[in-house]
Amino acid sequence: MTDRLYYDDAYTTRFAAHAMERVTDNGRFAIILNHTYFYPASGGQPADSGEINGVPVVDVTIRPDDGAVLHWVETAIEHEEVTAVIHWPRRFDHMQHHTGQHILSQAFIRIANAQTIGFHMSGESVTIDLDKTTLTTDQIQQVEQLANQIVWENRPIHVRMVTLDEAKKLPLRKLPPIKNGRLRLIDIEDFDLTACGGTHVAQTGAVGLIKIIKQERRNEKLRIEFCCGGRALADYGRKHEVVSQLTTNLTTGQADLVTAVSRLQTENKETRRALRKTRSQLLTAKANQLLAAGQKIGPATIVTHVFDAVDDVDLRVIGSQLAQRPGVVALLGMGGNKSQLFFCRAKDAPGDMNALLQSALKELGKGGGGGTAVSAQGGGPKVENGRLNQAIQNTEKQLHQQLKK
Ligand SMILES: [Zn+2]
Repeated sequence: MTDRLYYDDAYTTRFAAHAMERVTDNGRFAIILNHTYFYPASGGQPADSGEINGVPVVDVTIRPDDGAVLHWVETAIEHEEVTAVIHWPRRFDHMQHHTGQHILSQAFIRIANAQTIGFHMSGESVTIDLDKTTLTTDQIQQVEQLANQIVWENRPIHVRMVTLDEAKKLPLRKLPPIKNGRLRLIDIEDFDLTACGGTHVAQTGAVGLIKIIKQERRNEKLRIEFCCGGRALADYGRKHEVVSQLTTNLTTGQADLVTAVSRLQTENKETRRALRKTRSQLLTAKANQLLAAGQKIGPATIVTHVFDAVDDVDLRVIGSQLAQRPGVVALLGMGGNKSQLFFCRAKDAPGDMNALLQSALKELGKGGGGGTAVSAQGGGPKVENGRLNQAIQNTEKQLHQQLKK
């Protein structure tokens, strides 16, 4: 079994070792060393990355049968004696967060009597799950305050091994399900004592900062997302950048930012409402104008018009307004990247709109659409407005002929 040296020393990143065994699995290679400082993925903490004899280590896992540490490498390593290097920024990030988690978990117990029942760490986020469904903002702030107080006091963190019987006599926060053998205890002086196999910093000050950034209820538990040290600084940097850009864009101070955005939202809502009203009035005026130019045939009035794409009107809205007037048939089109057609009529007006639409679409070439005798819409390829006009005029002629019969 591999001697796991990171248990006693989380700070060594370069070491010599010799190869004990080589494993291949589906074209992947792993090497087992007599001892290692590489942390294998376990207990919610991801594996270390690094290199062995210059070959990147892509994953580190534990072989369940015998507990050997498998260093998965990009290409096979044949040497007997190797030099290994652990990628320190990633390892230290894990150490800051794992230690931060111990401090937070104890702080949640002391402030809110909330026990930690889950822990997860990845490159994107770090979370703990609490056995509570809600916490007040005040409680969260108190927890953060206490946790950071422990960081600022720079308390030593001791690691020691004890038997299960010895552990049972100690005020441990968490006792892992181990039947026999020895337990590794992480002791944050006079604050938190728990069993853990992960890597931690030597003194709480190295955690740097603990910041809770999100809380989210998940069934019967509360998921707390937090960040520590380097990640907290990066998060502060990103947020500061956003705030700086917003204060510049809105020419306001940070303290007034929320009010300024609320005001903009209100103004935007009012402007949109006013715009909708104006557009509606404009369309009504346009509909009246078209109606006045419509052709009267008996009790029916036939209105035809082809809009330019720049008119940007909603054919359905304007058509529906026209079709509300007795006896009106509206044959409307609009050019642009695609030609659009909308034919509709009042209930008491003559003509089968769908049949007329199909005939117009045929004339335009490709395209499709459909509807009922009262209302039909369709679209065709991009055509000159002249052709679109022609198609609508021909449709109108057809309608005239039907009315004469
Ligand atoms: Zn730990």
